Amino acid sequence: SLPTVAIVGRPNVGKSTLFNRLVGKRLALVDDRPGVTRDRREGEAKLLGLDFRVIDTAGFEDEDPHTLPGRMRQQTEAAVREADAALFMIDGREGVTPLDQEIARWLRAESTPVVVIANKAEGRTGQEGALEAYSLGFGDPIAISAEHGEGVADLFQALLPHV
Ligand code: GDP
Ligand code: MG
Repeated sequence: SLPTVAIVGRPNVGKSTLFNRLVGKRLALVDDRPGVTRDRREGEAKLLGLDFRVIDTAGFEDEDPHTLPGRMRQQTEAAVREADAALFMIDGREGVTPLDQEIARWLRAESTPVVVIANKAEGRTGQEGALEAYSLGFGDPIAISAEHGEGVADLFQALLPHV
């Protein structure tokens, strides 16, 4: 079966935009029951020559498993643990936030390899955020624009060792 990549990060950084770009129309709905897949979408990604399964996640704010956000966080954590690599996305225009740092702390304690991507980096706007993302401690951040399709070759290079 295909290697798996999970996209994680705080809300609104562009995870689903990247997921949609990678998957196009090859969306695999895992389970049609309401509420079951809303926060865990999977699909078959094509990135230049690479084929892999990609998982879009949502929810990393609440640790209480009795709340909806808490359950979403549990799904995010499970997706990362099962994945061959995690794409940890930050907003390259906003730079590193406290929630990004919290997610980074959690990711450091997991064994899944992490590639940091600074999104919304179209033009020159995201380069600073990409530099800041070095501080997260996962090596070279990749500057991309999920919306405009920039940085795709760099993302390919970064994923190559993992998928
Ligand atoms: P998610 O919550 O992390 O899944 O984020 P979404 O994919 O829903 O995107 C959140 C917002 O960021 C939307 O308004 C997107 O249009 C916008 N967005 C996503 N990618 C980019 C990008 O590369 N550049 C810019 N400028 N906006 C983006
Ligand atoms: Mg989303």
